[in-house]
Amino acid sequence: MSLVKAQLILLLVLIIKFLPGLNYNLVISLSIEPQIITSDISHFYEAFDLAKADPGNAKKIFNKHYFKKGSKGLHDFYKSKIQSKEKFAEFVISFQDYYQSIREDVSCLDDFKGVIDKNFQAFEKLYPEAQFPSIYFLVGKFQSNGTVSNDGILIGTEVLARTPHSDTVNWNENLLKVSLERNHIPVTVCHELVHFNQDKMAAGNTLLWKCIREGSAEFIAELISGETDADYQGFQGMEWEIWEDFQKDQNKSIWSPWQQASDARPRNAGYWMGYTICKAYFHQIKDTEQVLKDILTIQNYEEFLEKSKVEDYLMISTKK
Ligand SMILES: [Zn+2]
Repeated sequence: MSLVKAQLILLLVLIIKFLPGLNYNLVISLSIEPQIITSDISHFYEAFDLAKADPGNAKKIFNKHYFKKGSKGLHDFYKSKIQSKEKFAEFVISFQDYYQSIREDVSCLDDFKGVIDKNFQAFEKLYPEAQFPSIYFLVGKFQSNGTVSNDGILIGTEVLARTPHSDTVNWNENLLKVSLERNHIPVTVCHELVHFNQDKMAAGNTLLWKCIREGSAEFIAELISGETDADYQGFQGMEWEIWEDFQKDQNKSIWSPWQQASDARPRNAGYWMGYTICKAYFHQIKDTEQVLKDILTIQNYEEFLEKSKVEDYLMISTKK
């Protein structure tokens, strides 16, 4: 960026920041430079070295050198996911080889700036009202690869750390099952960016609501980045069976049987169902900008499902 352009953006940022009634997020969207905050990762590893040398005081050490120095994002992630300093310290110490093995790969994430920036711009083009929060890269204990708070997108970077050169031989089997590839980071950021922009959608508590909330994040993430957060290859051939089951469950307040793998269906079936409904809706409307606007302002989920004509879409896509 040229110096003059940078100065102009700074001036614009200052003017807007001090105008009453304007949201700071607007500044981010105008400068289109995603704010990527990685300070928590360096704090984590400073604490990690100290805690390894003195595991009896790990909780105190993580508290002082990681949590107390933490960003707003880490504070939110602690409240919604980590919740216990004691359990966090225990977990990290017992899987210290894992945290050590990913250290280099998560300590510098500059290589993703360009693609995250490109994805944000693609979203803004399709949905001009989009809000662009800061992205906080954090270290947790394998509870979440991504979530959002009022302050931003929160990424559990330790989950997204596998690379082709990772030595996974000594990785715990359960961690390995949940771990995702490092190059998946931009897609997770896109999925969470959509969640951050779902505040105009009606709240709900049914399976249908939850599936559309998750599935629309997947559908829009794919539109802007070319990929979905979850892998849906395992659903091929099961589409009709899952759709039949879904119709029986759609008004129930349940989620985990549609998230966990079971004899009935693969993991993330709820995501897949919502994603498929959004794709079906897109197939009906065809205008991408209109579809995004419609999805991100849904007030009646039953009506949306009906308009999607998902059964017709399944007929075409599975050639039944
Ligand atoms: Zn999600």
